[in-house]
Amino acid sequence: MLIKESSKYVLFSNFQIKEMAYKRTEHYDEDATSGLMENYRKVLGFIGEDPQREGLLKTPERLAKAMQYMTQGYQADARAILNSAKFHEKISEMIVVKDIEIYSMCEHHMLPFFGRAHVAYIPNGWITGLSKVARVVDVYARRLQVQERLTLEIMNAIKDTLNPLGVAVVIEAQHLCMMMRGVQKQNSETTTSAFDGEFQKNSTRTEFLKLISSDLSRR
Ligand SMILES: [Zn+2]
Repeated sequence: MLIKESSKYVLFSNFQIKEMAYKRTEHYDEDATSGLMENYRKVLGFIGEDPQREGLLKTPERLAKAMQYMTQGYQADARAILNSAKFHEKISEMIVVKDIEIYSMCEHHMLPFFGRAHVAYIPNGWITGLSKVARVVDVYARRLQVQERLTLEIMNAIKDTLNPLGVAVVIEAQHLCMMMRGVQKQNSETTTSAFDGEFQKNSTRTEFLKLISSDLSRR
């Protein structure tokens, strides 16, 4: 899991961290499920389909559950997750977790956007479990979002709970609302970033950006 360690930074790749990440159980609210099903049945009719067609009979139910799964972040509290795994540690090297997979939905079209997040912080006495960093990304991603706000929310949750010397978040994502409709820019990737504290210094930010764009962790 530990990819590279130097006197200045500790770099982790999320491909390995994922294995120890929190196991989610699928939980559906009955009222939400039946309300969504009823409306999705209507949606099928409005787009010119026959909701009674065999292949579509169970679609409203599947979609109702999928929608709840994809927005489960509303039920979770990122700050509580970080506080639950907060350890006192005398580390002041940059901790980088790169390539955290992101699956979110844009709030304008409710279509998916997906990609990778890279998160770094420089501890100031407190660190958190690595899998918790990935969890925090998930908590905010599994809501209706805009990529810019998602980036900031992740940064602020880490900043508020760990009070680090600096936090950096970079997200690279592709948006289906751009790829499937409208301008149909199939290969465009949107990059957003947020930097706080030490990362506002050019040298620290450059080191972080170098680390996340390196191929150290790919195998
Ligand atoms: Zn959109």
